[in-house]
Amino acid sequence: MSDRVYNFSAGPAVLPEPVLRDAQRDIWDIEGSGVGILEHSHRGKVFDGVIERAEADCRAIGSIPDNYRVLFLQGGASSQFFMVPANLLPDGATADYINTGSWSAKAIKEARLYGTVHVAASSEDDNFAFIPTPDQTRCSPNPVYVHFTSNNTIFGTQFRQAPDTPDGAFLVCDASSDIFSRRIDVSRYGLIYAGAQKNLGPAGVTLVILREDLLERPARELPTMLRYSTHAQKGSRYNTPPSFGIYLMGRVFRWILDQGGLDAIERRNRAKAQVLYDVLDGSGFWHPTAQVESRSMMNVCFRTPGEDLDRAFVEAAAREGFMSLKGHRSVGGMRASIYNAFPPEGCDALARFMRDFEARHG
Ligand code: PMP
Repeated sequence: MSDRVYNFSAGPAVLPEPVLRDAQRDIWDIEGSGVGILEHSHRGKVFDGVIERAEADCRAIGSIPDNYRVLFLQGGASSQFFMVPANLLPDGATADYINTGSWSAKAIKEARLYGTVHVAASSEDDNFAFIPTPDQTRCSPNPVYVHFTSNNTIFGTQFRQAPDTPDGAFLVCDASSDIFSRRIDVSRYGLIYAGAQKNLGPAGVTLVILREDLLERPARELPTMLRYSTHAQKGSRYNTPPSFGIYLMGRVFRWILDQGGLDAIERRNRAKAQVLYDVLDGSGFWHPTAQVESRSMMNVCFRTPGEDLDRAFVEAAAREGFMSLKGHRSVGGMRASIYNAFPPEGCDALARFMRDFEARHG
């Protein structure tokens, strides 16, 4: 019997149980080497195998074409907010950004340090409750790239498909909160980045997938550590990489493959989210905050009829073993984060709890 609770945290978030069990073993002694994964040199044979397998499994999951590089970096997704424009947006050039929430806004702020930002679409006027449609998106005539946040962790909205780009522009995606939660056609993108701590592993490592030709056109001189080319040339080992994070991400990649890859993961995620949205749509008591066609499969955001009741819900849920259901501090309400590793039975249990709560308070 597990003593773990249902953890709805938005990140760092729940990890697959088999991965944690393997990690417990490998922290003590990995592959019979007599040394734990945390203690191995990042240039030794054991770690060579760890990082090579992690990359190979990542490529297999995303069917990543050969002309893309896979990098394991540090500094969180937030560092990609500036690394992308620093490396790829020349002085005087324009990048288009779609503003769908706080993380997009932070990316926009950093890009303005390096070039001109054109906001091609924004859902700010409606409190970021929706994803702009292609009709609502107006790109500039000649952007270097178009940046979007595929899943908005705070507002619980998610793009159904990647936006179109004008000819000559490449697509950049902050996929921090939905990477590898569904099928993805990597060949449509120039660069994809994601902090690991939601769908891929522990905090402290950031996955970057970028098209090789972009390495050949640096926008400006940069310190060595800030250049993608440095990390690409050195196989993410220019300096000491976040070796444990890469190890654990590799185990999560293996787990995704064991689940049947992205098709199976997507089916599972869709079913999990549906269980909760069915409750939210089932009566007037609940107020789901995202518009129906923009709803996220990863972060289900909702309210009760009042703030006092919201608080009571979060407290009662915690007593029953449903942890971290409080919405982001900037928006309030509730948020159930149900990333890849969140178990379907946790969604079923929460749905029962919600129906019961409604019966008592509705
Ligand atoms: N982008 C998105 C969509 C996020 O959800 C987050 C973190 N919640 C970030 C970026 C920032 O990531 P980090 O904390 O790894 O810098």
